[in-house]
Amino acid sequence: MANKWVYLFSEGNANMRELLGGKGANLAEMTGLGLPVPQGFTITTEACTQYYEDGREINDEIQGQINEYIVKMEEITGKKFGDKENPLLVSVRSGARASMPGMMDTILNLGLNETVVNTIAEKSGNARWAWDCYRRFIQMYSDVVMEVGKKYFEELIDKMKADRGVQQDVELTADDLKELAAQFKAEYKEKIGEDFPDDPKEQLMGAIKAVFRSWDNPRANVYRRDNDIPYSWGTAVNVQSMAFGNMGDDCGTGVAFTRDPATGEKKLMGEFLKNAQGEDVVAGVRTPMPIAQMEQEFPEAFADFVKVCETLENHYRDMQDMEFTVENRKLYMLQTRNGKRTAQAALQIACDLVDEGMRTEEEAVAMIDPRNLDTLLHPQFDAAALKAATPAGKGLGASPGAACGKVVFTADDAVEWNAKGEKVVLVRLETSPEDITGMKASQGILTVRGGMTSHAAVVARGMGTCCVSGCGDIAMDEANKKFTLAGKEYHEGDYISIDGSTGNIYDGIIPTVDATIAGTFGRIMGWADKYRTLKVRTNADTPADAKKARELGAEGIGLCRTEHMFFEEDRIAAFREMICSDTVEEREAALEKILPYQQGDFEALYEALEGNPVTIRFLDPPLHEFVPTEEDDIKKLADAQGKTVEEIKTIISSLHEFNPMMGHRGLRLAVTYPEIAKMQTKAVIRAAINVQKKHNDWTVKPEIMIPLSCDAKELKYVKDIVVATADAEIAAAGVELEYQVGTMIEIPRAALTADEIAKQADFFCFGTNDLTQMTYGFSRDDAGKFLDAYYDAKIFENDPFAKLDQVGVGKLMEMAIKLGKPVNPNLHVGICGEHGGDPSSVEFCHKIGLDYVSCSPFRVPIARLAAAQAAI
Ligand code: ADP
Ligand code: MG
Ligand code: MG
Repeated sequence: MANKWVYLFSEGNANMRELLGGKGANLAEMTGLGLPVPQGFTITTEACTQYYEDGREINDEIQGQINEYIVKMEEITGKKFGDKENPLLVSVRSGARASMPGMMDTILNLGLNETVVNTIAEKSGNARWAWDCYRRFIQMYSDVVMEVGKKYFEELIDKMKADRGVQQDVELTADDLKELAAQFKAEYKEKIGEDFPDDPKEQLMGAIKAVFRSWDNPRANVYRRDNDIPYSWGTAVNVQSMAFGNMGDDCGTGVAFTRDPATGEKKLMGEFLKNAQGEDVVAGVRTPMPIAQMEQEFPEAFADFVKVCETLENHYRDMQDMEFTVENRKLYMLQTRNGKRTAQAALQIACDLVDEGMRTEEEAVAMIDPRNLDTLLHPQFDAAALKAATPAGKGLGASPGAACGKVVFTADDAVEWNAKGEKVVLVRLETSPEDITGMKASQGILTVRGGMTSHAAVVARGMGTCCVSGCGDIAMDEANKKFTLAGKEYHEGDYISIDGSTGNIYDGIIPTVDATIAGTFGRIMGWADKYRTLKVRTNADTPADAKKARELGAEGIGLCRTEHMFFEEDRIAAFREMICSDTVEEREAALEKILPYQQGDFEALYEALEGNPVTIRFLDPPLHEFVPTEEDDIKKLADAQGKTVEEIKTIISSLHEFNPMMGHRGLRLAVTYPEIAKMQTKAVIRAAINVQKKHNDWTVKPEIMIPLSCDAKELKYVKDIVVATADAEIAAAGVELEYQVGTMIEIPRAALTADEIAKQADFFCFGTNDLTQMTYGFSRDDAGKFLDAYYDAKIFENDPFAKLDQVGVGKLMEMAIKLGKPVNPNLHVGICGEHGGDPSSVEFCHKIGLDYVSCSPFRVPIARLAAAQAAI
């Protein structure tokens, strides 16, 4: 049987999201629930994939089925495309599996031409409406299908308004709109070189193609990469008969949430705009009314809507984000989805749903997107400083958080300044989807126009970026890059602070403080800990980092990079003496100076970890990273060593390597200079003995981690030195102390020979930064230069340094575990690359049987939640 490419809304349901896209599946589900949905059909995501396979063409089979479904739709609605009596008008809407608000294209009022527009004008007695629909259609079709560009049409509208001396679109008359439609068509002909298409079926195929094509537009590609949505999914297309919110003052269009998407509070929230269509309500063309006000003006439709909200919440058991239209006082539902929300709201809603008996604890944990937590862990304004400050203005608290930075006026400037290391706040009249990269590069976003559902608000919430929208008090002069607020003129580069919770705007810098895990956050994390089996450790090099990580729930240190402890001035001097020594005696003398520093650092780390495991990695980077480059420093070193400047320079140049990341580093240093490993071992063991003495109730059990091994004999050579040194220290102290010696698996050969390596190691820890680099043969410091081309060419969808490559690198990890565990049943295994805090990578680590992940302190809660989700 031929493939089924098209489904009526009445043939689908919410479980068919993969095939029908989120929007299509939910339109079908609402149809099944008996809600008032204008009927239509959905062309599947598979048809989109097929379109790309066929070289961006819709093949005959799919076109044939679309034509069949047009006939079915005509029967259901009793209207016909292009009909002189009762014409069918439709919207053509994109809808991917995961919602991508505003990223792809939609066309409304399709099916209009000169004949049809006259028919509907006559039959409705509402010529203004008819021509408004037609000019909108030409505008959208030209923009989306023919890519003529919105701005030409907007300029024509502005000119018309100026000619007529009116402010608002709704003040334009039927004749004005008819005139505009004619101007639009002329514009179209000039730009495209053809007449605007009159045949509704031709219009429809063009529109469907355009929606498929919009899957591959640049802003959709960026959004997908940020949100982990695979390119291969494709978008479905929904063809739906129109409901008209622009027929007059007893019509309108709205968007609403069943709970507050900023705080999670259980109350109907939203906006409604009279005599309007489609995006008008979010685009900020006029200021919409709050949803509550709809109750007075549209009592029946409002009552129906409240009932629909209840039905949908109970049905989906989650907060809903809905689009609806009122045509001649009657309600039509156009969309519902589980609403996007701030991290704070997500926690509140999940807890409330458990308390309301709608969800289990496990389900509540599964509802939270771990990546979202990031925002809650970032600094908030210092409460005292905030209280003392007087706001310069106030907008809507559209996306919570505290942002402080220099004012910039364009998305491009935001990107540029951010690249220079500046913190910026992007200030715009309103944002548009093209601004997305600039929004990402900003600490916060401030807009003059727009409500809680404006583009800026929705996108900022999705990104977890602080946003204040709709501050009408700002007198904006975008062209000259300045604005005035509360009597003060702000220029590019001036400091401003914005509070995304209250909507307050402050002149200058308000200091920030660190966040804590409490309230609903604490509750959810408690549930997460109850259900997860994977342990979460942290990468910490300083006691301060370790303490922070403990507060955030770390159960140990998985990686302490000791080289970070050598960078202080006194230490680096001693370290340089060590590197530039000619004899073992000279080198040991220099190391003696470093030993107490290291020991002190380790003691502080053990203290901070309160008896939880601490993994200390021995010196890893190549030595040349430590040698002096300034003449002064070289001279100082020469004096300290009793050598000439020339001698020191010769030593330094002898350390030069062509490819240092594959050079003299890691345990190779311990092979050539065993003194270094000995010194580090002494520091680790002495520190452990001291701290253990102070705290009887703790078990201080150091884990010494040897980096970069590739061979069992090589590892044994270094390990024997470590063990001999450690045992001698313990014997000399006359105490008992357990310790472990393990290695990092970060060279493919180590994974391939893990059965041999496991005989020499108490534990493995996957250093997936190096393992990724060495498996791909990409230098992690240089890959950024060419990876963009890989994304553009769809060779890669993700940065393998950010999201673990499960296919290749993951296979090496699995192999190492499978080879290692049978040889050494006590072997424990962790990961300490950047991937340890990436949710999808954490899930993979759970699956392949790791004991723990280790990540930077602020990622610890994210990893705890991701680990729980992997286990549920
Ligand atoms: P997005 O996914 O970007 O929200 P939509 O497909 O939802 O795009 O459509 C954009 C706007 O057009 C929405 O405000 C929606 O409510 C409106 N719209 C879509 N289809 C119809 C329709 N059949 N009748 C009336 N309005 C519609
Ligand atoms: Mg929508
Ligand atoms: Mg490494």
